[in-house]
Amino acid sequence: MQTLIAGNWKMNTLAGEAEGWATRFKEALHQQATEAELLICAPFTHLLALSTVFSDSPVKVGAQDVSAHEAGAYTGEVSAAMLKDAGVAYVIVGHSERRAYHHEDDALVNAKASAALAQGLRPIICVGESEAERDAGRALEVVLGQLQASLKGLSFDDPADLVVAYEPVWAIGTGKTATAEDAQEMCAAIREALRRTYADAVNELRVLYGGSMKPGNAAELLAKPDINGGLIGGASLKVDDLSAIVGAA
Ligand code: PEP
Repeated sequence: MQTLIAGNWKMNTLAGEAEGWATRFKEALHQQATEAELLICAPFTHLLALSTVFSDSPVKVGAQDVSAHEAGAYTGEVSAAMLKDAGVAYVIVGHSERRAYHHEDDALVNAKASAALAQGLRPIICVGESEAERDAGRALEVVLGQLQASLKGLSFDDPADLVVAYEPVWAIGTGKTATAEDAQEMCAAIREALRRTYADAVNELRVLYGGSMKPGNAAELLAKPDINGGLIGGASLKVDDLSAIVGAA
């Protein structure tokens, strides 16, 4: 299984900055060999330009959202076919910021993931509990509930086509990180829950950890057997930090 290191830029950078960042990242990668798969999930407006800049490199380009609809009168939406046309390989669905600020529920996340798969895009489906849910001892129940509903009916030929990201909401952008043990425990539980549907293919399905991953904690998290990569927000905006995380993978 190839470790996946995925940056999520969120709503940051202008197009010119993004291209400069990509050029510097490619240079940094020349200094370090990696076996990990590398991905940058950027704002929609940068996707085409980044696909061009990264076309002579191993770095793939991802989007941060996709419409559940194929085409038509959905003002403001971007379809999976449009993303594919822009050179996109992956798309994040159900990020906690979209669940919280755009009221996306599991059914919508499921429909978006299905739309992505139908176009040959790889969805990265995010699940994670809030701090209150963890404090109440409900983390496992919440995460497995989101998982079951968000992945309902999804199928794949290649287990690499579907990625799950465990992102405890309280760890996103807060500087707080789950301990490597807690993250491993949840990622292992996610894999076991998926075994009922996907049988032994789950051994090849990547489960990422996300939540304030940075150079100082990446190696410990990525060493855990059920953590097959990282979804990295803040630290992915700095070439040096993301390069150091790639080095830890
Ligand atoms: C994220 O946006 O998915 C994320 C994990 O952010 P951060 O690394 O900044 O916590």
